[in-house]
Amino acid sequence: MRGRATISPMNAVVHKFGGVALANAEAIRHAVAIVAGNETRGVAVVVSAMGGVTDTLLDITALASDGKRGAAKRAVAALRERHVAAANALIFEPELLDGILAIIDRELDELTTLASRRPSAALSDRIVARGERLSAHLMTGAFAASGIRAEFVDATRLIHASGSHGNATPVIPRSMSAIRKALTPLMRRGVIPVVPGFIAKGKDGAIVTLGRGGSDLTATLLGRAFDASTVTLWKDVAGVLTADPRVVRDARLIPRVHIREAAELAYYGAKVLHPRALLGLGDDTRLFIKPLADPDAPGTEISATRDRTAEKRFPVRAITTIGAQAIVTISGDGMVGVPGIAARAFDALQSVGISVALISQASSEHSICLAVPGDVARDAERALRDSFAQQLALGEVEAIDVRPNAAILAVVGLGMAGTIGVAARLFEAIAATKTSVIAIAQGASELNISVVVDERNAARVQRAVHDAFRLSKIGGGSAEMSSRADVVILGFGRIGRELAAQIATAKEARGPRGARVVAVIDSAGYVFDQRGLSPRRLASLRSSKESGIALADQRGGVRATGQEALDYVAQHALSRPILVDVTAGDTSAILEAALRVGMDIVLANKRPLASPTGKKQAGGLARSAAKRGRRLLHEATVGAGLPIIDTIKKLQESGDEILSIEGCPSGTLGYLFGELGRGASFSAALRAAMSAGYTEPDPREDLSGMDVARKALILGRLLGFQGELDAVQVESLVPEAFRGMPVTEFIDRLEEMDALWADRVTKAREANTVLRYRATASAANVHVGLVGVTLGSSFAALTGTDNQFAITTARYRSNPIVITGPGAGVAVTAAGVLNDVLKLAGSR
Ligand code: ADP
Ligand code: ASP
Ligand code: MG
Repeated sequence: MRGRATISPMNAVVHKFGGVALANAEAIRHAVAIVAGNETRGVAVVVSAMGGVTDTLLDITALASDGKRGAAKRAVAALRERHVAAANALIFEPELLDGILAIIDRELDELTTLASRRPSAALSDRIVARGERLSAHLMTGAFAASGIRAEFVDATRLIHASGSHGNATPVIPRSMSAIRKALTPLMRRGVIPVVPGFIAKGKDGAIVTLGRGGSDLTATLLGRAFDASTVTLWKDVAGVLTADPRVVRDARLIPRVHIREAAELAYYGAKVLHPRALLGLGDDTRLFIKPLADPDAPGTEISATRDRTAEKRFPVRAITTIGAQAIVTISGDGMVGVPGIAARAFDALQSVGISVALISQASSEHSICLAVPGDVARDAERALRDSFAQQLALGEVEAIDVRPNAAILAVVGLGMAGTIGVAARLFEAIAATKTSVIAIAQGASELNISVVVDERNAARVQRAVHDAFRLSKIGGGSAEMSSRADVVILGFGRIGRELAAQIATAKEARGPRGARVVAVIDSAGYVFDQRGLSPRRLASLRSSKESGIALADQRGGVRATGQEALDYVAQHALSRPILVDVTAGDTSAILEAALRVGMDIVLANKRPLASPTGKKQAGGLARSAAKRGRRLLHEATVGAGLPIIDTIKKLQESGDEILSIEGCPSGTLGYLFGELGRGASFSAALRAAMSAGYTEPDPREDLSGMDVARKALILGRLLGFQGELDAVQVESLVPEAFRGMPVTEFIDRLEEMDALWADRVTKAREANTVLRYRATASAANVHVGLVGVTLGSSFAALTGTDNQFAITTARYRSNPIVITGPGAGVAVTAAGVLNDVLKLAGSR
């Protein structure tokens, strides 16, 4: 069989590229690539005008009719320039380019003529129609330039509409047959029809438009004509969001939206979808809204399937507002009990072509409130006064008042039906913003509750309502299309600061699977910015912190405990959040909480992995993480940036059995012994180690052997050691008398230990050994302590802060794997952490 007789219904695919998605040549090329990357047979493409062009065309009409001819001319020139630039950048073949440039000239010359005519709705449609036509020609040319067969097909041949100019309604049956007739032959041959959206042929044959944003509708109509398997509307947003992201920064992507919810959102002003777009959707067609910037992202699917679990959790799924409304109130005692007042009001408004977005009537029937677009409020008032002239004269209707500058806020969700307390939550949230509610309406479907508020309070109210319904917790990810992981740094000491600097400058961190810092937390408070802390901001936070200013006391800083900071951060929509613990404290509770709110974890802090594994305790952190499907990486807890943990895990994954690990995992002690061996005094050597950042904040952590013991325990646990930290045999290098005192006193009295150490060093030298502090871990036993290693051994050769690990395995039994390298220091530790962060983010 050669080809298909018809386009099989399940095979047609429609792509619509919105105005923002077609901002310039680069965006158009990107759109072409998306289509070209898949089967092109059965594909139809609908385009909007290039971003902002429809508005410019309307402006030009207005300028011309105001007699501002100079300004109008300049605007036309700018439009020409923009389209010519796009054409030149997209199309190289001279003949093709000439053809398109001629079309641009023709359309814009005609625009100049048309703009000078007497303005009318019909003329306005004729003028704006060229925005879509021009972009469709450009897109067709761009397809041809990439070797894809495509053909411009004007929408006036396809979509027939009735109704008024500027807001016409498609006549479905007629449009369906026209679409099939014109497009099937092309699509069957694999030629992609490129159709200008938004425009149609009116009853009298003149061009009409389908209302602002009408290209969405053109696309769904094409989808319906072919019973398409998918219609994808490519936009500048990640999908349908819980609120307009320009107003509510916490807005989240909703992975699935029911068609009734989508229709309600669109009708109530969510600009992401044309209010009548769903009119054109067939039952078997899947409708997606996706971000052009990230074609592989899932976007939002609008479907007829209900998700009861999601509905239960989020009875309200999204909020939206319509601004620039006026509230018209008809009131009077004489209206009580009189039937047909509302009907008459609707009739009056319909007769002058005004649509009513909301109506609300108190049960006393004393008054009726109607919301109408602000710019026609006076016309509405006049129509109502005419219609109620008799009642006004008789005093049955006492007043018709107009209150301008109102906004309607609608909360939408299928789950609202039957959920108790939704309205209470809504009004409580509004009341908390000290905004009064002018009118309320709730449809019987309970799919929507609408309230009218003063327009200037609308943004504030939206954010409060968004919070009240916890919409930032909806599971689709942040509104932002960036898929960079959001990093929360717990601990802003030397390593935390260095890490912040490394993330800010690492090239991989800036890529699409990179990472950015959204919060830094120290012991007194935090600084958070959901949009990410810029490298400049991080630099200033670091430098102030270095000069001793706590985060809480810096610009934007908030005083809080670590737990409070995390709770606050977790209330926001973060993208693939990672909590990095670079403290030295017991952070188990915070880390557990982070896992609960869906964060992955990177540790440089050893304590959480070395503390008791008892129930809920952090030794069980690895288990908690696994249970919740979260990832936990901790390379920097042993050997700083050296790939120790990674090697162990890889060996185990490959089926090898690790028998034991011997190591000098303390760069601090290694450095100290090196200095001592060279004749330095203990106090001088330790002070040098401290100022180089080689020690824990309290150097006794290192000297007591506890730091090494924790590392040894972490290694032991990887090999199956079941005991707790107290089961690790530890030899402390801190004399009894020095253990209880404050750090400062300890540091003041370091000289008192110099003689003891001089003696130890001499004794070791006499025995032809050097001092090392060594850890040994196996499944059965973990112990750490001071040993003299013979001069010829590899451990004796260690210098500076280098660490060394010898891993003995079933495969590498007689000749263990030895890993040596820098094992302490701020830069290498931070680099180890950064590596883990980038691994989780997906760029390594
Ligand atoms: P197109 O380019 O296809 O015409 P639109 O500009 O009409 O796309 O729609 C996308 C815009 O809708 C976004 O830029 C966003 O600011 C706005 N918007 C308003 N409410 C929402 C919402 N709930 N979800 C997503 N986007 C929204
Ligand atoms: N270009 C038209 C508008 O700006 C139609 C559309 O983009 O869908 O409203
Ligand atoms: Mg639109």
